[in-house]
Amino acid sequence: MQRKFIFVTGGVCSSLGKGIVASSTAAILKSAGVKVAIQKLDPYLNVDPGTMSPFQHGEVFVLDDGGETDLDLGHYERFTNISLTSGCSISSGKIYSEVLAEEREGKYLGGTIQVVPHITGKLLEKVEEVAESMDLDVLVVEIGGTVGDIEAEPFMEVLRQMKNKYGKNCVSLHTTLLPYLAASKELKTKPTQLSVRELRRLGIHPDFIFCRADVRIPKKLLEKVAYFCDVNPECVIPAETVKSIYEIPLKFQKHNFGDLLAKKLNLENLVFDLDEWKNGVDKLKKAKEEIVIGLAGKYNELDDAYLSVIEATKSAGFYYDRKVKIEWIDTEKIEENDVEEWEKLKNCAGIVVPGGFGSRGIEGKILVAEYCRKNNVSYLGLCLGSQIMAIEFARNVLNIKNATSEEFDEEGLSKNHVIHFIPGQRGIRKKGGTMRLGAYPCVIKEGTRVYEIYGKTEISERHRHRYEFNNEYRERFEKKGFIISGTSPDGKLVEIVEIPKHKFMVAVQFHPEFLSRPFHSHPLFRNFIKTTLS
Ligand code: GLN
Repeated sequence: MQRKFIFVTGGVCSSLGKGIVASSTAAILKSAGVKVAIQKLDPYLNVDPGTMSPFQHGEVFVLDDGGETDLDLGHYERFTNISLTSGCSISSGKIYSEVLAEEREGKYLGGTIQVVPHITGKLLEKVEEVAESMDLDVLVVEIGGTVGDIEAEPFMEVLRQMKNKYGKNCVSLHTTLLPYLAASKELKTKPTQLSVRELRRLGIHPDFIFCRADVRIPKKLLEKVAYFCDVNPECVIPAETVKSIYEIPLKFQKHNFGDLLAKKLNLENLVFDLDEWKNGVDKLKKAKEEIVIGLAGKYNELDDAYLSVIEATKSAGFYYDRKVKIEWIDTEKIEENDVEEWEKLKNCAGIVVPGGFGSRGIEGKILVAEYCRKNNVSYLGLCLGSQIMAIEFARNVLNIKNATSEEFDEEGLSKNHVIHFIPGQRGIRKKGGTMRLGAYPCVIKEGTRVYEIYGKTEISERHRHRYEFNNEYRERFEKKGFIISGTSPDGKLVEIVEIPKHKFMVAVQFHPEFLSRPFHSHPLFRNFIKTTLS
């Protein structure tokens, strides 16, 4: 079959949910057995999102192959359950650095290097490369930013070139906003018209328009968009705000999006089966009773910074027909003995200490772990959260008062680094490019809590860390009931720790949240939630 491409662009403003449109498109196609994946092209100049602050850019999502990507890749994987590859996340920075490195090597033989054709050519190559290497029927490509952005221009040019090269095998979806004017009580189409006009100025005629709105869009208005933007009326699809993003593939399919898309792309005999989505969404809607889970992170109130952790916790809640309410625990306030913050903590049914870097709020996190351990409150530690659990235990049970992690002891004041640099990574202490990244196998000890949870001895989970448990302390910990229940296959790297006597005090050096799916919650999160119900 001739390979097909679907591009998703956005207009009017950012945060319209282009990523969800791309994800839903891929999910719908996948439901008909199409071999599909999603790629994100981001106009920013960072080489990858690994160095970007979660404050600005949300979480860094990690792939099996160790790629550090934008949170949209998380949406893609959650919607499609496909393991994506580093090539699925491309930024201007990555493209420019490759082209410039080639220039230094003399590849261009004295030629003048230009945005068109060299940058655009390299971008186009990356699009084709992913489709080829993953052997796809269809590649969905989301272009970051908004039409009209200076930085996004070369990306739009790539879309134009792709349409030219692939003809009917390349379609474009444009996501726009219909703003609501309260005074006149109406939705406006002009910004959409202008956005499409801008697209057409760049030589791109959209095949579908997705209209985002916070209220129901009258049919007449969709027809108006079709008329002014020169798109078939049936290809203007309402994308009204819904309670759960997982309803969106079903909503799109109500407008026959899958069939229309198949027709446009000449994909024959596709039968879309969204039963799994329907059942999943029905289950989500059943969850009425609330359960409060504390999240003791660093970027408080910033959902995007912990998107996968929140999604994994919620999905596990739904499994038990519970709606999870996230309570943000500010560990700096815990440290300062803030009464209200402690009250918040005590109201939580369970606590998650997620991943993180740097020493801010660390002492408060250790207090949170101590509180959970002493009061038999369920504690799930993720990466940094597992290191915190070890430090707390060392200080308060093993009586090693100055126990800490090498990460928080830059001046080397403590001799007791119960958490230290991964030995193999020593000597390359500068930040960037030194982390243990991606999927690694872990062997689980039989007879432990996690063995019960996973039901097997060999698992694979995704990692993103520089530090690890210091094996010199292993025996002392285990003697006092802090069990190492999972390690790397050679037994050298500690991957999972637990306190068997506790209701649920389990922590992992990896990030299980990246493998949790909306309708297939991760067993660790599921077991954690289960223990908070009793
Ligand atoms: N900062 C810790 C480390 O590098 C934990 C990393 C994380 O939580 N992702 O090991």
